[in-house]
Amino acid sequence: MNMEFKRKLTIPMETKEMYPLTGSMAAIVEKKTAELKAIFSGRSDKLVLIIGPCSADNEDSVIDYISRLIPVQEKVKDKLLIVPRIYTNKARTTGEGYKGLVHQPDPNASPDLFKGIIATRELHMRAVKETGFACADEMLYPENFKYIDDLLAYVAVGARSVEDQQHRLTASAIECPVGMKNPTSGDLSVMMNAILAAQHQHDFIYRGWEGHSFGNPFAHAILRGYVNRQGVTHPNYHYETLIYLAELYAKWDLKNPAVVIDCNHANSGKNPFEQPRILKDVLLSCNYSGDLKKMVKGFMVESYIEDGNQPVGGGVYGKSITDACLGWEKSERLIYETAEML
Ligand code: PEP
Ligand code: MN
Repeated sequence: MNMEFKRKLTIPMETKEMYPLTGSMAAIVEKKTAELKAIFSGRSDKLVLIIGPCSADNEDSVIDYISRLIPVQEKVKDKLLIVPRIYTNKARTTGEGYKGLVHQPDPNASPDLFKGIIATRELHMRAVKETGFACADEMLYPENFKYIDDLLAYVAVGARSVEDQQHRLTASAIECPVGMKNPTSGDLSVMMNAILAAQHQHDFIYRGWEGHSFGNPFAHAILRGYVNRQGVTHPNYHYETLIYLAELYAKWDLKNPAVVIDCNHANSGKNPFEQPRILKDVLLSCNYSGDLKKMVKGFMVESYIEDGNQPVGGGVYGKSITDACLGWEKSERLIYETAEML
């Protein structure tokens, strides 16, 4: 191979021994995961709000952001279950650009994947320990998932990964709810096939092991909008698409039919300030149709301390260096307005 093998990394088991979870941290993750499963199975009619920055670029501002969610969660706890986003690896269409904490624990320095893996585990641990939230991350690299599998309450498979077999098979081995995004092309059958694959048992190779997964009955859809052949973004959160998805679910033999609406990305045309309108539009759609009310389990919102985004190295604390986000004041207002509408 035309590649320098720079150093052998510690395996997940060794890394977990070096950075172990305490009993009370494990209990927090277990409780959050159980609450999420109750929502995705319809036993609870709360909605899930997966909210936070596009990328977890800075440990302090991410923990600061998540700490702000603590009193808000307390006020809306009868209606909403908040799962903060700590997205530690970013899919890049051309491979160029900031690829997340796992590649660059310091976005302004050269890649250091050894430090990145530790930083990823430490950040998720800090969130659980200091804020009481078990969080969401994207599984961009299935082989890295086991470094943090004991810390997450929610996992997403991204739009650029959802057609990939290793992602689908690994999702079938994940304990907590996994959202399968629609692909960037918008083909909903790709997403449905991914959910089907993740809900079933499989035999496959994972990290040098021959393994057997038991299937994830909480694998579900995430609608994130799509990009057409001319490169123009199109939303897929409207009433008609949601009804179409409910019809697809009726035809496919899947457990716990559910969808999370990603309010940013191609749904907002990457304008983060559209997110409140999109979320409220979907809640209105749910009021028109009992089927939608049952199927829509929550929302994903890209939110950070400051509005918008900045280039890598821009230096503004709490401002995204990847997709533009809704700032804190607007996000807090959105959470309260959402709870009031329920
Ligand atoms: C994201 O959630 O930040 C993201 C990259 O999503 P998608 O896979 O939908 O582009
Ligand atoms: Mn994003």
